[in-house]
Amino acid sequence: MAYSSGGRLPFESASKLGHLNVIESEWVRALIKDFETNDVGDANNYENDIWESFDPMNAQPLQHIWVVDGSYVPVEENHKELAFVKTALMTVEQSKIADIDKEYPHPLKLQEIMKDSALFHATVFPLRNLKSAKGNIYDTVRHVIYDLMRNDEGGQYFETLKWLAYKKWDGKNNSPSFECPHCEEKVDEGIPYDQDTGKCPFCGKEVLLTDMVGFHLDMNEDNAPISVASSYMLIMEMLMLFTVIRLQWSNRDPNLISNTLFIKDGPMTLKGQYSKLVPNIREFLNFAKKQGRPIHLVASEKSGLFFDYLSLSSRFVKPESGKIKYAVLNHGYIRRVIQRAPDRGNPYGMRTNWGEKVFVFLDENTHMVLNMTTGGYEKENSYPSTSDIIGLERILATLPTLISRKYEGALYPVELVNGIASMSNYPSAKILQDFVKDMI
Ligand SMILES: [Zn+2]
Repeated sequence: MAYSSGGRLPFESASKLGHLNVIESEWVRALIKDFETNDVGDANNYENDIWESFDPMNAQPLQHIWVVDGSYVPVEENHKELAFVKTALMTVEQSKIADIDKEYPHPLKLQEIMKDSALFHATVFPLRNLKSAKGNIYDTVRHVIYDLMRNDEGGQYFETLKWLAYKKWDGKNNSPSFECPHCEEKVDEGIPYDQDTGKCPFCGKEVLLTDMVGFHLDMNEDNAPISVASSYMLIMEMLMLFTVIRLQWSNRDPNLISNTLFIKDGPMTLKGQYSKLVPNIREFLNFAKKQGRPIHLVASEKSGLFFDYLSLSSRFVKPESGKIKYAVLNHGYIRRVIQRAPDRGNPYGMRTNWGEKVFVFLDENTHMVLNMTTGGYEKENSYPSTSDIIGLERILATLPTLISRKYEGALYPVELVNGIASMSNYPSAKILQDFVKDMI
């Protein structure tokens, strides 16, 4: 914000600025003039012809809800550093959520829907100045990830990793390519179908299927950055959610999966080496769509570029009584209006995103940045359009019952699962600190 002159300054601010060479540019002078005359609150400053209307009475809300969230905390003690990661998966029935007062929930009702409804996964990683008898930080983290995924919940999460890596719905495929954790060579052929481990063709050493994901690329022998913990959290959240999807896919009731809403917090994005799972996720969602068993996935973003843009521009959206307004953002719009980036280089989200951005506007006080899936990707600026989004109408019809009254732009199931997955609030952080003290 510019400082306002109270008139008590020795010079007028304009005359002060006049000494600067930059003011001599005609372009800058024109800009300053425009800057002064343009009303920032003008709806014309936002390209708002993107909005469409939907009557939620025209689709059946989804009955079952699964939601995942996670958290991580670095803990430092005596120059030693480690990180705790916790993820939680929870299920609730849409009818019960609809019944709850989101602002002042009745404790007994809340207790009833939370009871026996959650699964947890937790781990600890050494990050700095820690060495186990078995090896350095690099190998410890690799093996902790492998052992944990294979053992937790009877190996169900590991089976999901295999299911995605080997595209088990579609014959017998090798895993995606990976970088050997020992000799750093790129192994294009991946790990052979359904194997838990493989052998590097270059150095002959054992490679774990979890190495294929690429956590080791973020570490050196003796140090791991906190990003290993955050990446593990993101991968685990995705695997937990897809474990339910995988199990429901083969459920006796073939309609169960398409009557379920799967929710995650944060964008449907996997960056860097972790993006190698993105094409497989898209392929499965497309496969399910083609089989007539669409999978309804939604993610909410409560901060960031898209959230900021919607917060500013939503004032100018005209509400329609009884209707939900929504906007499926195509890549051209995202580039030009939101990222304000040049139209070159990698098309938006091509490598990293398994979902697309959808703005939703329920009323003057309630708007959300959501991610939904298409099961594919096209480079065109006009992609995606409304018809590309999987299960858009049923997701929209379910949303009005899921609005958080505590957090702007949030979904209530995410608020619930966040409460049990979060370690950042007292007393968890204190307990972990004490735990570390005892351990070291
Ligand atoms: Zn190797």
